[in-house]
Amino acid sequence: MRIGYGWDSHEFKDGIPLKIGGVQIPCEKGLSGHSDGDVLLHALTDALLGAVAAGDIGGYFPPSDPRWKGADSIIFVQEALQQVRRAGYAIANVDSTLILEEPKIGPHSLRIRSRVAELLGIQPGQVSVK
Ligand code: MG
Repeated sequence: MRIGYGWDSHEFKDGIPLKIGGVQIPCEKGLSGHSDGDVLLHALTDALLGAVAAGDIGGYFPPSDPRWKGADSIIFVQEALQQVRRAGYAIANVDSTLILEEPKIGPHSLRIRSRVAELLGIQPGQVSVK
């Protein structure tokens, strides 16, 4: 068994879509970034890569590369998942903690858990978002 940790931080900006865990959440502000700013999927990507010592998100998808401008972060998770599988592992569970004042995540957590589970090929009961 191996365990990986991921961490990320993005700045809120007015007038851009807020995407967390592959789910668009109604909000006047979104998370800015070179890609779609999906902070949860970025941290998840790093956790998966870290678990199998396969580098980090910046190594695969450098922000200096214009190919990843506005990219859907699902691509990053898919690459990390491939690395986990290539190393001969399967995901048992994912736990995540979001730190933000607004918007409240509770009303959206089931949708996020379901989406993340779908991306990873596991069940929502194996994904925690709090
Ligand atoms: Mg990021």
